[in-house]
Amino acid sequence: MPGEKILLVEDEEKLARFVELELLHEGYKVDKAMDGRLGLELAEKGGYDLFLLDVMLPGLSGMELLRRIRRFSQVPVILVTARDAVMDKVTGLDSGADDYITKPFEIEELLARIRVALRKRQPVPESEVLISGKLSLDPERHMVHYDGEEITLTNREFDLLKTLMEHRNKVLRREQLLSLVWGYDYLGETNVVDVYIRYLRSKIDDHYGVKTIHTVRGVGYGFRDPEE
Ligand code: CA
Repeated sequence: MPGEKILLVEDEEKLARFVELELLHEGYKVDKAMDGRLGLELAEKGGYDLFLLDVMLPGLSGMELLRRIRRFSQVPVILVTARDAVMDKVTGLDSGADDYITKPFEIEELLARIRVALRKRQPVPESEVLISGKLSLDPERHMVHYDGEEITLTNREFDLLKTLMEHRNKVLRREQLLSLVWGYDYLGETNVVDVYIRYLRSKIDDHYGVKTIHTVRGVGYGFRDPEE
């Protein structure tokens, strides 16, 4: 359908340009990124209908980019893999890719796969605002309020709070929080969780004189409705 917007992350300049022109010719809008980090930045800004990610990318691999995108978006992803990279295909589909295409590919095949992926798209569910006492977190608008007052959080703090609120009244182990919030690449460095818990506590618990984040010694952390 004309007008749908595609983010193309591809470091081979000629191929990227070629694909971009073909997509534009088909009536799609296209943004292009030449490395994984820039790709993630653009993806985080939102507004895309499909991501086309090369797997072998500088900065951040296409696979890692896919995992990070899946933390905040269910937009269709097509991976572009090297020939015979069977593991990439398996890992990619496991990580939430909708489809993959192998280099070198015929542009007609790519266009067909894009049409299929766009057609299969699920209507985006309204993400629910998480409310706990006077604290509210709006995933859609990426905002947190306490008693009507906006709390400014970094992306990581926001993700951590969201994860804790989604699992309220449960205890999450540091390793669980790491894999849910940071992804697999940080496994092993669990003290980063403690650091971010401190940030959240200073911005919420200490700031408003409430207790939401509870430490369970030797285990991890849990979120409960604020106790004033
Ligand atoms: Ca590449």
